[in-house]
Amino acid sequence: MSVIVPLTLHDALQALAEAPDATLLAGGTDLMVELNAGHRQVTDVVSLSRVADLCTWQHDPVRQVLTLGAGITYAEIATEPIAQWVPALAQAARTVGSPQIRNAATIGGNLGTCSPAGDGLPVLSALEAVVHLRSATGSRDLPFDEFMVGPKRTARLPGELITGVSVPVLDGWQGYSKVGVRNAMVIATASVALVTDPAARRVRLALGSVGPVILRCPEAEAAAATAVDFHAASVSDSAVEHFAELARAAARPIDDHRSTAAYRRHAVGVLAGRLLRKAFPNG
Ligand SMILES: Cc1cc2nc3c(=O)[nH]c(=O)nc-3n(C[C@H](O)[C@H](O)[C@H](O)COP(=O)(O)OP(=O)(O)OC[C@H]3O[C@@H](n4cnc5c(N)ncnc54)[C@H](O)[C@@H]3O)c2cc1C
Repeated sequence: MSVIVPLTLHDALQALAEAPDATLLAGGTDLMVELNAGHRQVTDVVSLSRVADLCTWQHDPVRQVLTLGAGITYAEIATEPIAQWVPALAQAARTVGSPQIRNAATIGGNLGTCSPAGDGLPVLSALEAVVHLRSATGSRDLPFDEFMVGPKRTARLPGELITGVSVPVLDGWQGYSKVGVRNAMVIATASVALVTDPAARRVRLALGSVGPVILRCPEAEAAAATAVDFHAASVSDSAVEHFAELARAAARPIDDHRSTAAYRRHAVGVLAGRLLRKAFPNG
């Protein structure tokens, strides 16, 4: 087994060009668990942890876009200044594992694993994030919903790595909620991200852990957009219940060792309704 530890993005891409099927290692909080459990075999490893280019972020105040390098950790996302621009992502970050895990775990690794239970992913979906991919021969950008193609399956090609992800900085309320089998250190059995965009008069809803991919809920979003009063921050109780029902209808959950499909479907409705009520507390 070879382990390459490049210091620049250029060198990382070169290493990957020479071994396109090499395993990328960031914080290792998913990968090492899989290796230790014998669920994954690796031959070549390219470590990204010392690639400074991947560990930066940029906030463009004119375009109102935040770009996070793949190596940005959940600990960084959970705190200022990043937290003020993407409060729902910060909220999701605070629910990831423990402080030790959050200090090592990266947003690029969450995207790389692409589990439907990944806490960052419903927020990225609701924000309509763009994933940046690069290889030695070029780069491409994919909307998150095209990047995630199945449970733990992505559109990333051999020889490519995720360099980062861009999200809009919106001025409306946004939030993230999850339920699991305990209060901390828990993988979500159901999760919901809700993002409001007052300028576009839109409410965006994404569900995690209730389908093979993160699910958007166009019917619920459309219903909310007509039911809410952005100016008065109000929505009726009946509209909240209808929204929750549409969220439940959009879920495609399964029974597994963590929960039942019926509980998951119920839970996303409750979480979606609560988030809509928090976003529009009046009425
Ligand atoms: C105790 C524990 C608790 C956890 N709790 C949570 C939780 O509450 N919520 C949650 O969402 N996750 C949780 N996780 C999972 C994990 O911490 C996250 O998925 C994390 O974001 C993975 O990031 P990483 O940097 O450690 O990735 P790694 O383990 O280094 O890599 C993960 C995968 O992504 C690939 N990869 C990494 N970087 C890139 C890149 N730049 N381009 C392409 N592919 C890349 C790797 O090859 C690998 O396949 C937990 C893990 C542990 C061990």
